[in-house]
Amino acid sequence: MYAHALGRTGLAVSQLGFGASPLGGEFGAIDEAEGLRAVKHAINRGVTYFDVAPYYGRTRAEEVLGRALEGQRDGVVLSTKVGRYGPREFDFSAARVESSINESLGRLRTDRLDIAIIHDIEFGSLIQIVDETLPALATAKKAGKVRAIGVSGLPLAALRRIIESADIDVVLSYCHYHLADTTLVDALAETVAELNIGLISASPLAMGLLTQAGPPAWHPAPDALKQTCRKAAELCARSGVDLATLALRFAVDAPFVSTTLVGMSSRAEVDRNLDALTQTFDPQLLEKLKQILAPVQGLTWPSGLPENSA
Ligand code: NAD
Repeated sequence: MYAHALGRTGLAVSQLGFGASPLGGEFGAIDEAEGLRAVKHAINRGVTYFDVAPYYGRTRAEEVLGRALEGQRDGVVLSTKVGRYGPREFDFSAARVESSINESLGRLRTDRLDIAIIHDIEFGSLIQIVDETLPALATAKKAGKVRAIGVSGLPLAALRRIIESADIDVVLSYCHYHLADTTLVDALAETVAELNIGLISASPLAMGLLTQAGPPAWHPAPDALKQTCRKAAELCARSGVDLATLALRFAVDAPFVSTTLVGMSSRAEVDRNLDALTQTFDPQLLEKLKQILAPVQGLTWPSGLPENSA
């Protein structure tokens, strides 16, 4: 698997990154022992980037990942987040950044984070993010607890506003570069390249929309998007092709991202997703899928404070 430079951070990340939110049970019950084996299996197959957050499973995903990485920490790039602690629980204050990082270091059984990301900035005041949260992360960076800092969120407008007004190393965007939404390209690709900011694209399966099994019940997508993705899955089933495999292959081919984060919690998923990197697909099927998805291309959903989406 290829490794790419993550902007100017000096870090290199595998083309496919391991998203650990499923390890917290965010997509349904998981077998923790299998989750631990999935992480080790991914490392053995060349995955070097792992992303987690205190929010995922309300600290459970960090606990599981920390256990799985014991003895392997030096070989991987690890990101976690600050600021989001529950569905409606946010704290972007400097004091909470400091305590959050210390707590995450404990759960992840390490003395440093490679990347610390402010989680879902659209739920906070972007002024506070720039004036207080990012400076607190910069302090952690100076103290050697963190190597690179950045932001994550759904509305591309919010990510763009931070890029334009603060000095950050990485941006994590999710659900904006996959078969049914490529809006990341026009919104950020050129700007991050110019500024040499590392671009992490997450959720290539659109958080389950682009799978044969479909999304979890909590998925926030509008019905039109859910129904159209279901039609895409039906076409794939008729053609004997797995929609997730095809969707993953489409997403990882993006030349402007450093890494694509897919959520996984079993060795079978790791194998399916890593095998997808070398698979080829019938271009006609891809064309038909794009036609089916065209009416909902770029369709998203509200997230956070309305003023942060404009
Ligand atoms: P995703 O699009 O990667 O989908 C994950 C879902 O697909 C899970 O249910 C997983 O079990 C399933 N899956 C994985 N491989 C599969 C396969 N081959 N076939 C069928 N199903 C498969 O969505 P995600 O997990 O939300 O995103 C990936 C990661 O990116 C997260 O785990 C997280 O680390 C990160 N992320 C961050 C933010 C943020 O910072 N705001 C938001 C979204 C995601």
